[in-house]
Amino acid sequence: MSKITAFIFSFLLSAQLFATEGMWVPNKIAELVGPEMKTMGLKIEPSALYAINQSSIKDAVVHFNGGCTSVLVSGQALLLTNHHCGYSQIQKHSTLENNYLKDGFWAMKLSEELANPGMDATIIQEIRDVTDEVLEGISVETKEADRNEQILAKAKEIVAKIEEETGYSAYIKPFYYGNQYLLFITEVFQDVRLVGAPPSSIGKYGFDTDNWVWPRHTGDFSVFRIYASPDNKPAEYAEENKPYQPKHFVPVNLQGVEKDDFTLVYGFPGTTQNYIPEAEVKNILEVINPMRIKMREASLDVIDAAMSKDELTKIQYAAKQSRISNAYKKWIGQSKGLIRHRALEKRDSIEQLFTERINAKPGWKEKYRTLIDEMAKMEALALPFNINRNYLIEFYYMGPEILRYTERYRELVSMCQDESVSDEAIEEWIAEQKEKQGFFDNYNAQIDEDIMKTQIGFFVEDQQPLDLLKNVRKGGESLEEMVERVYEDSYFSSREKVMEMLDKFKRKHYKKIMEDPAFLMALDIYNHYFVEVRPQLAALSSKTDSLQRVWMAAQMKVLPERTYSPDANGTLRITFGKVEGYDPFDGASYAYYTTLEGVMEKEDPNNPEYVVPEKLKQLYEAKDYGRYAHNTGEMRVAFVASNHTSGGNSGSPVFDGNGNLIGLNFDRTWESTMSDILFSPVICRNISVDIRYVLFIMDKYAGAGHLVDEMTLVEKN
Ligand code: ASP
Repeated sequence: MSKITAFIFSFLLSAQLFATEGMWVPNKIAELVGPEMKTMGLKIEPSALYAINQSSIKDAVVHFNGGCTSVLVSGQALLLTNHHCGYSQIQKHSTLENNYLKDGFWAMKLSEELANPGMDATIIQEIRDVTDEVLEGISVETKEADRNEQILAKAKEIVAKIEEETGYSAYIKPFYYGNQYLLFITEVFQDVRLVGAPPSSIGKYGFDTDNWVWPRHTGDFSVFRIYASPDNKPAEYAEENKPYQPKHFVPVNLQGVEKDDFTLVYGFPGTTQNYIPEAEVKNILEVINPMRIKMREASLDVIDAAMSKDELTKIQYAAKQSRISNAYKKWIGQSKGLIRHRALEKRDSIEQLFTERINAKPGWKEKYRTLIDEMAKMEALALPFNINRNYLIEFYYMGPEILRYTERYRELVSMCQDESVSDEAIEEWIAEQKEKQGFFDNYNAQIDEDIMKTQIGFFVEDQQPLDLLKNVRKGGESLEEMVERVYEDSYFSSREKVMEMLDKFKRKHYKKIMEDPAFLMALDIYNHYFVEVRPQLAALSSKTDSLQRVWMAAQMKVLPERTYSPDANGTLRITFGKVEGYDPFDGASYAYYTTLEGVMEKEDPNNPEYVVPEKLKQLYEAKDYGRYAHNTGEMRVAFVASNHTSGGNSGSPVFDGNGNLIGLNFDRTWESTMSDILFSPVICRNISVDIRYVLFIMDKYAGAGHLVDEMTLVEKN
């Protein structure tokens, strides 16, 4: 055995010894990993996790507004998720007078629960494998573009048929990079109300400093409730709506966890890239991550400084700041982890072992001989366009907001230019727009301008062609002067200016909009990407996608000793592991749980990230933990386990071997952020808030014990 083969073989084997890698689709869970879960400590039958003819735990696991997970814990559809998942809803209800972000919010009766127009909660009814149907008529000879078109058409047809037959919604998603297609039949609820949230000094305790970090002391939860029509069907918000009566809700375990206990996380992980080739990992590590980090650092410098100076800004920018800083910090940890755990070397070894094996088998050799080189070539060709794409995301979509805001006026301009559109229709559009200026509630033009100033240099000069802003930038003007002019002269930099413009709007004024510097800048950037970059990227991506599909299938065939659960794609998954601490680096070892003691240790009244609310301190002093204390008398706050999770798993229920709720997953450790690309069962840990801390805060801290009363509590397993 060559040295490389020996290295990779031991790597693969060590991965096999721990079966916790993988995010498994629940419909075939018993066949896929039933025995492994049983060996590790699952006591219920896998059929209790997923069933379609009777209720099962899956009916209590709810996709929360498309990006997070939540869980039903009462017959009145009480829904638990993370504080950071409900953050923008809590923020939207917050004002300087009723600052729910700062002080928390608790509805003491149903009538006080707060509606959240535009959000939804989705329950999966059934998952079906539709690969054969979707791929019918497609062969190796089918061209990639035709393949995609045929698949889309077929999927649309299947979805329409199912929706018609069942009355539910449905979608189809590709798995294993298009080697498998699964259909999800769903029930989507639109009336989801805010029931309670702790103050940020509990729900976000430790803020950015502690985010992605263990040991952790954050009570990261918020409480919602799903409402349905009087006949228990999904409905838009209406006063007559009643709490939904779910098919299933989960009991809550009051005993807590011990080291090595089995844990199962059930939720909707967003994206992982556990099977991409080395060349792609290298570009992420060396080019894409540094660029994204640099752009976010620039905007965070501005936002953080502004938030620290002013209470209103703190409310207005809270959700935006969190969105930007969350991924920013994750990418830093991810890059560090990938380097430290030699991700490139490991991918390279896999590719070398693959090459050794195919070279030894003529059939494989013929088929896969050029695959790895081709992938590397495509990766290199696509890199400049990928850089463009990421700059577009970081600047246009995550950076200064004025640019996206102007998008809506493109419609107005084209209406005005179109002779078949009447003046009345335009007036109607204007009247509607006047009602839709909520954007400015959370907007500060000075902050926005400062963000643009700090990012524009990178955006324009670093990677993009210099004539990118050809219609907005004046000859001889510096970038800074241009930015100042944009905010000074644009109609769109304040509510007042926008309203004045709309009030006086006449059809011919569309020409003025077309000359508006913010409008022009947005258009320049948008057109550059969509006309010059995207078509090329799309052509390359279609080739990359097909190579990745072949690579995925080839790895499964040639290296069968590895575990292959499909990469996360926002669909329902089960991951299992056990409660265990870890050794983050040489000389250090982390325990598997934290306690209220640690909240007090971190307290710093002069640092807004570590302020402990008075009431919590009193409860701590009095050790008034009631039935929520651990059998040692401690108030446990959080624990870590070896479940393979990702973004989107935020708010996921964490179950014990009996299917009782023991926590809410909310994060990963700093050393685990690499797990989206490389999972290591030795080092990667997901972080959950102990469900007893959630109940303690609700009951003892907030006086909302009526919510705990709705739940089914399990005192002894
Ligand atoms: N806290 C994370 C997030 O917000 C969850 C995770 O990625 O593990 O995305």
